[in-house]
Amino acid sequence: MADKILIVDDNEKIRNMVRRHLSKDGYQILEAQSGQEALDVIKQNTDIPDVILLDVMMPGMTGFETCTELRKLTGGELLYIIMLTAVTEINKKVEGLDRGADDYVTKPFDMDELMARVRTGLRTAKGRRDAVTDSLTEIYNRSFFNTILSSEAALSIRHKRSLCLVFLDIDHFKRINDTYGHGGGDAVLKSIGTILKSLCRKSDIPVRWGGEEFAVLLPETDIGGGEKFAENIRKTVEAHDFEGVGRVTASLGVSILTTNEQDMIKAADTALYSAKNGGRNKVVCFEHNML
Ligand code: GH3
Ligand code: MG
Ligand code: MG
Repeated sequence: MADKILIVDDNEKIRNMVRRHLSKDGYQILEAQSGQEALDVIKQNTDIPDVILLDVMMPGMTGFETCTELRKLTGGELLYIIMLTAVTEINKKVEGLDRGADDYVTKPFDMDELMARVRTGLRTAKGRRDAVTDSLTEIYNRSFFNTILSSEAALSIRHKRSLCLVFLDIDHFKRINDTYGHGGGDAVLKSIGTILKSLCRKSDIPVRWGGEEFAVLLPETDIGGGEKFAENIRKTVEAHDFEGVGRVTASLGVSILTTNEQDMIKAADTALYSAKNGGRNKVVCFEHNML
């Protein structure tokens, strides 16, 4: 897939010029005329762009404000943001970098220099993405989950919104490995990753927890919503024809944040254990009498 670059500038001439140059190098170009439009473009696209060229002076939201908002999005810290501004505003360079920009280019820019900076940005963005991605399933890894959990928990407490956690463990996975080999097992893990991604909303965070265990963090979701989501996953997995392997089932445990993050993890794990004990291919929501 082509690398994605988003150009955010209210000046159409600049957008056109940058687009002409960048598309020659085979990049996929997205455009926005304002900060708000940039945020909308990112929220609507399932694939976040790798590099964002962000004009500072725009009507409505400034580039600085936009930068702050972009960083708050799920995965926003992975973006490589290059600020674009006029030479007269060069004193604002520090403010831009403080606000979380990665690089700064002054207008009128030299196209060769801009392109070189874009290439650097793409390399950096790829490195950031690799660091948080599980290489087999291409969903988030446990290390990213650990990073994001405390910020999502803090957000949910501040805004008095529910935060839900779903654990998934493939049933009798050892048998799949034993029957179809490690390659067969790996293919199943990959497909489970694809199923999770396809059923997640943009703000949900699907994670490979380790081995044949997965987790999904669901912001703004209560226990009932989490149960529906988990049941949807369970049914999708059950109905899926896994290439070369056939039918596979999974057990799921659901919990919400009540006291702290560690208790939420323990509760989802307890619920999952109960689903396994209850015969597998089941969704169980945590209840206090399980302790
Ligand atoms: P249960 O229904 O109780 O969950 O049984 P299970 O066989 O799924 O669970 P168990 O924990 O006994 O076995 C998990 C297996 O997953 C054992 C391990 O070899 C295998 N496994 C862990 N990571 C990977 C991996 O990356 N690829 C493959 N192919 N297998 C893996
Ligand atoms: Mg397991
Ligand atoms: Mg298992």
